[in-house]
Amino acid sequence: MEPYDILKELVELQRLDSGLDDLEKHKKKFLNDIAALDANVKASQNQLQSEKKKLEELVKQRKTLEIETGTLDSHIAKYIKQQNDVKNSEQVTALGQEIEKSKLAKAQAEDKMMEILLQEDEQKIVIKTTTQTLSDEEKKAVEDKAYAQTKINDCDKAIEDKKQERAAQLAKVEAPYDRGYENIRNKGKKIAVAQVSEDNMCGGCNMNVAPQVLHDIRKKDAIINCQCGRYLYIKEYA
Ligand SMILES: [Zn+2]
Repeated sequence: MEPYDILKELVELQRLDSGLDDLEKHKKKFLNDIAALDANVKASQNQLQSEKKKLEELVKQRKTLEIETGTLDSHIAKYIKQQNDVKNSEQVTALGQEIEKSKLAKAQAEDKMMEILLQEDEQKIVIKTTTQTLSDEEKKAVEDKAYAQTKINDCDKAIEDKKQERAAQLAKVEAPYDRGYENIRNKGKKIAVAQVSEDNMCGGCNMNVAPQVLHDIRKKDAIINCQCGRYLYIKEYA
């Protein structure tokens, strides 16, 4: 096989692999979409949990105040009873003061309870809205994930086909260039066969390609590597 023909097979192999890379990228995007949808639903679930917890806290606070007012009520009843039992007016006055103090504390607790009740009502609305949002998001996520999964399946099928195509193409590349190509790709370089740009740069590493190297490529009698290791070709050969 002439070097020029080997190079043409390498260019075709690169074209197939670049197509494969695009498909993988495409697939990854849809996988990321699914992950983002899951994360979004999870965030809303957490939000709902925290809103419910806030309501629980408010109810707890109100229950504590209820117990407090109950205690104050029994104190007041006790003082009133004592007032009837005591003889001297000083004690009556002192108990009267205790009763007033307890009544005031009870009124304050009741005000606070009313305030909390209003907050509970607001919080119930927040929970209702959050529940609805979560339900909408979950529903949409199911649809969007199904769509993304269809796309992923399409990608998988196309990837499978292209992998067979590239395996067949790799077999067409004469040794040792097939291994050479694989080595470059395995080092993580997506472009193993780089086109020299119009301003004489390697399409892989963007370094300038020396005139002598260009001259060698044009002679078509050898396969030329860039300093970066990639195989080089010029547009006319593509
Ligand atoms: Zn290069």
